[in-house]
Amino acid sequence: MVACVRCVLPMPPYFTAFSAFFRPFSKAFRRPWHPLGLLLVLALWLTTLGNVPLWRSFWALTDSHGLRTGLGLLAMGVIVFAATTVLLSLLVWPRWRKPVGVVLLMVAAANSYFMTAYGVVIDPTMMANTVQTDVREVRDLLSGSMLMVLLLGVVLPGVWWWRQPVQQWPAMRLLGRQLGLALLALVLMMVVIWASFQDLASTMRNHKSLRYMVNPFNTVYASGRLLVGQTTQARMSLQPIGEDAAMVSSGAAGAPPLIVLVVGETVRAANFGLAGYARDTTPELRQLQTSGELTYFSNVRSCGTNTQVSVPCMFSHLGREAQAKNDIPYENLLDVLQRAGMQVLWLDNQSGCKGVCDRLPNFGNVASTLNLKDPTLCPDGECFDEIMLRVLPERLTELEKSRPAGKAPVGTVVVLHQMGNHGPAYYKRTPADMKQYLPECRTNVLQDCPAQDIVNAYDNAVRYTDHFLGQTVRWLKTQKRPTAMLYVSDHGESLGEKGLYLHGMPYMMAPQEQTHVPMALWLSKSLKMQSGWEANCWQKQATDALTHDHYFHSVLSLAQVKTRWQQPELDMFSACKAKPALRG
Ligand SMILES: [Zn+2]
Repeated sequence: MVACVRCVLPMPPYFTAFSAFFRPFSKAFRRPWHPLGLLLVLALWLTTLGNVPLWRSFWALTDSHGLRTGLGLLAMGVIVFAATTVLLSLLVWPRWRKPVGVVLLMVAAANSYFMTAYGVVIDPTMMANTVQTDVREVRDLLSGSMLMVLLLGVVLPGVWWWRQPVQQWPAMRLLGRQLGLALLALVLMMVVIWASFQDLASTMRNHKSLRYMVNPFNTVYASGRLLVGQTTQARMSLQPIGEDAAMVSSGAAGAPPLIVLVVGETVRAANFGLAGYARDTTPELRQLQTSGELTYFSNVRSCGTNTQVSVPCMFSHLGREAQAKNDIPYENLLDVLQRAGMQVLWLDNQSGCKGVCDRLPNFGNVASTLNLKDPTLCPDGECFDEIMLRVLPERLTELEKSRPAGKAPVGTVVVLHQMGNHGPAYYKRTPADMKQYLPECRTNVLQDCPAQDIVNAYDNAVRYTDHFLGQTVRWLKTQKRPTAMLYVSDHGESLGEKGLYLHGMPYMMAPQEQTHVPMALWLSKSLKMQSGWEANCWQKQATDALTHDHYFHSVLSLAQVKTRWQQPELDMFSACKAKPALRG
């Protein structure tokens, strides 16, 4: 090995002249930085290049790019720069100057990439999703353009930042100067806000998404909210609900019922055949509907716009609004079902149950498909949803064995948590021989695909969910006990409408593509008889406005469980229990 190239090879004369020319400059650049100077360079980078999506959105708010728009942009720029300076003055201290700078560069670059690529914004629920992600989800998001953004936005400036020498100052002097700078920046920010208040306030009010686009404050705020929420929850003990839960003694007692709850993923009603979509993406469900076995609920809204919010909310008794403000850890629907004596099984083909299945007993009541190897259903290490039906019979036998001896079975509830239409790699959700609509978008960088190819890949996945639900019903029909299946998607998806992709917009500004979800119910004849309900009474709600708020209360009825925690006004089956009018 040659340790020093220059020691061995003679340098050509032009190289010597070249280095001699640049030596004074490089010396100037190698001179240690004034600590506040370096801090302001980082603030300037984060404000400008670290916030490109914010400035692009701000510029696109109006078509008339006159002096007023320019001044507004300038005012906003000064405010963000001043606020970033305040933040850096408080965060960047000699001991951790280097890592803090690199972390902030990473935050700005990653946020900018996802905001530009998918039109998402960074709020507390998006942060919660990020924290709970898994390897499969991260792999689905990796792309060449993402690596390029990370190289230009993190690696190059990060190496530069790491290598800069900085003047060593006594601690008190640095503290005084840095806090002084923070104060100065704060005053500057106040003055500009005061001067531009009217325009700025109305812009921020009318375009709420902008406030979640300011890097790195969106991340700082979201992490803070998440941390406070989690600490508060951790400090409180779990609150029981449904302590009085018991099975309804129906007149026609029989075999214990088996209820399958399919928690769908990212399917929006707009692309669901039964919802009137131009393409028949749900032929199998349509057949069941035509034969009068299945009811489609056409007006259902989700609780959240991402899995992290929607799934716990569906199983909670609180409902969307109360759940959004709630910091108290409550038990959920599964705890109530178990308290009534039912056995509960959670099969997961996704990134976990988001805390919902935490208290199911450890007898294989929770099973993930993550490590299953099936050449047909898990060809590339990721399993198609049908894998859950493959393992279900065996799991149910195990569950049955775990029932304490002498305890009579009262019923079973199985939750199938689908991979469904999880994006952006929709094409991965359908087996090759089931692709109906071609060509498909076969990349996770959705903007690189023609709009129709994205829709094709998405619709193929909807059609596969239809097939999965059809298979589930066919299997349930083979069971010699009363059975039911309730399917509902956790949230919808944007497929490029208004420049938005994927999901996760804050609820108050979410487009309806992200909140209008499909829901379908199938009941076996024996369950209908066992329940003693009036024929098709649930169909009265088929076009009514329903939400995930109805889920907790309606599943209790479906499972024949009663508790004082059930609210009749949120029970889809209320009409079924109405006392028949007295004959006069
Ligand atoms: Zn989801």
